[in-house]
Amino acid sequence: MARDIKGLIAQMTLEEKAGMCSGLDFWHMKGIERLGIPSIMLTDGPHGLRKQRASGDHLGLFDSVPATCFPSAAGLASSWDRDLARKVGVALGEECQAEEVAVLLGPGANIKRSPLCGRNFEYFSEDPYLSSGMASSHIQGVQSQGVGTSLKHFAANNQEHRRMTGNSVVDERTLREIYLASFELAVKEAQPWTVMCSYNKVNGTYASENEYLLTDILKDEWGHEGFVVSDWGAVNERADGLAAGLELEMPSSGGAGDRKVVEAVRSGKLSEEKLDRAVERLLNIIFMAVDNKKTGASYDMQAHHQLAREVARESMVLLKNEGDILPLLKEGHIAVIGEFAVKPRYQGGGSSHIKPTKLEDIREEIMKSAGSGAKVTYAQGYDLQSDVPDERLVEEAKQAAAQAGIAVIFAGLPDRYESEGFDRSHLRLPDNQIKLIQAVAEMQSNIVLVLSNGAPIEMPWLGSVKAVLEAYLGGQALGGAIADLLFGDANPCGKLAETFPQRLEHNPSQLNFPGEGDLVEYKEGLFVGYRYYDAKHIEPLFPFGFGLSYTTFEYSNLVIDKNSIRDDEQVTVSLNVKNLGSRAGKEIVQLYVHDIQSSVIRPVKELKGFAKVDLQPGETQTVSFALDKRSFAYYNVGLKDWHVETGDFEIGVGGSSQDIVLKGTLQVQSTVVVKCIYSRNSTVGDLSADPRGEAIIRDWIRQTPFGAMASEEGEGSEMMAAMMKDMPLRGLVGFSGGALTEEDLDEILKQLNG
Ligand code: BGC
Repeated sequence: MARDIKGLIAQMTLEEKAGMCSGLDFWHMKGIERLGIPSIMLTDGPHGLRKQRASGDHLGLFDSVPATCFPSAAGLASSWDRDLARKVGVALGEECQAEEVAVLLGPGANIKRSPLCGRNFEYFSEDPYLSSGMASSHIQGVQSQGVGTSLKHFAANNQEHRRMTGNSVVDERTLREIYLASFELAVKEAQPWTVMCSYNKVNGTYASENEYLLTDILKDEWGHEGFVVSDWGAVNERADGLAAGLELEMPSSGGAGDRKVVEAVRSGKLSEEKLDRAVERLLNIIFMAVDNKKTGASYDMQAHHQLAREVARESMVLLKNEGDILPLLKEGHIAVIGEFAVKPRYQGGGSSHIKPTKLEDIREEIMKSAGSGAKVTYAQGYDLQSDVPDERLVEEAKQAAAQAGIAVIFAGLPDRYESEGFDRSHLRLPDNQIKLIQAVAEMQSNIVLVLSNGAPIEMPWLGSVKAVLEAYLGGQALGGAIADLLFGDANPCGKLAETFPQRLEHNPSQLNFPGEGDLVEYKEGLFVGYRYYDAKHIEPLFPFGFGLSYTTFEYSNLVIDKNSIRDDEQVTVSLNVKNLGSRAGKEIVQLYVHDIQSSVIRPVKELKGFAKVDLQPGETQTVSFALDKRSFAYYNVGLKDWHVETGDFEIGVGGSSQDIVLKGTLQVQSTVVVKCIYSRNSTVGDLSADPRGEAIIRDWIRQTPFGAMASEEGEGSEMMAAMMKDMPLRGLVGFSGGALTEEDLDEILKQLNG
């Protein structure tokens, strides 16, 4: 419905306008009754609806209405399935409509810089292309239901330690290529109604008052049309925030922020036009919610539970399957071991913690799936409340394992190990679980391990178990999903959206995580996750993009439809994937790009395409990817733009970042002339690389004492060329013994720079 928003603003007092820019309470925006502006509700998110019944808190302490708990983002991303993320979004949107929630806070698109970050379970990936793609689909799904989202936490909030005061110091190129890129596509493609700024500072300025991030990049460059909301309590100086592009302060500051805004306008520090523009953005979204509200809406709880089960099945990653121990037969004696089997860990702690509509018991689901043909016994194995091994529980588990044909151990990280609000300090399982695995391995060689955790762990015990299923935090239907996968009623098809390092110390951020005091320097730069392990040839425990299936796939016939493109053209890459096995299965095909020759530092390869294909036994499908400038570009800080250097690029396609099966090359030509400005201190090498400078340089060198050697055949000239490469031009003048003058140099520079 068309509304005269500007007309409404014209009728508001200064106090009313300032008031619109902060919350009414913990979860609502203010309305103005006399102008027909309603108060709408914003609440968490992201993998389920957390609508608190009574008073609010942002740490998940108070009770909330039941809602479907889907696998958290770490799991969802492992599905590499954008359609599935959209479906989850649609379901979340329906639940919001039924509960009269206008904006669901999420998804979180922060990059997993370190596996230690306590909130990694809520984030998608270490790779920005995958992360922003999943976030985009999540947003599109929710918003298709007339419910808004809040893409968070913008930006460079990659740890929980001192998250409200920390200063993330990130160089511009890394910020653009890794940390902002993870938000960029989602903003441009899906237009989240709101973006939530993070608590921390970015390069010295609080995200909540960072004009560069909130206005220059988000609004002006990326074209975000909605409003920016503060993370709960992230406002530092309210008027500065508003001036920088932060429209809404949450939760209510009891009028304190509003008064500061009024004062700033009265004193001329903040222009009223700026305030009006902020209110306009807020009203646009409020009325978007009003127009899309579905009064009396309801949702199908059972269908959403089934969807949660489907998502969990698609998200879990089979990491090891020695001797094809999985899938299990529905016969014989199976010992289920570990308290997680009856007290599952299915979601993370903090503001995303929701109350599920129901919760599956893993042991029961295993018994249901196994049917009457199999005997299933249970032993607790460890106490979830403690890390200390309990001899009695261990002994009981050993006996149970010894009597069975196979032991399925449920292990993982207890709630107290990882959550919003704090980071882990190591990547180990609790001692009592490690002890249990080792003890059971003494009695039973057929061990299948199922993990519940939000982020990578170290696995020094990997050799003692035959199979590992990474179940992540699988949501309320994890039990059924695990049973489906263990017995082969479903075929595992998730792949890791993050690298599992052999050891924590291998992680690139390790020496600068969590920083000193408030200072967190992202010194590893672009080399986050697989970009680092690849470049350093450090073998991970499990690489980015890795995951097994009960079938195998064959890749063939890579076709790049053009040998050469300009950077304003597209190229299509296609290939065939065949299911070689006797079971239906899904393969996640990944495409990586490598710049073969570059004048700037670039990762060995970067993910630029992925697709999940569903294949019947023996079936072949053709998968195609469209690549454009961005697929080949790096962020050129000088140009303040994405840039492709003319040259050859390698396209690698395969089943993981370490399993590139097909390769091809193409040339990309830049359409942008990067103008070089030369000076007396430009080098011989710089000038030689420029076709206009090359002849001049050759001529000049001839006039120096090095000239004779440089024109010799063979080694001498090669050495001379290598030595001369880094000589500044002014040096040539000096060495020419008067043959070249400063004036000659100035003249040439003038011509070249002209
Ligand atoms: C979290 C946000 C959350 C907000 C509201 C904050 O502590 O960082 O992700 O949306 O609380 O609960």
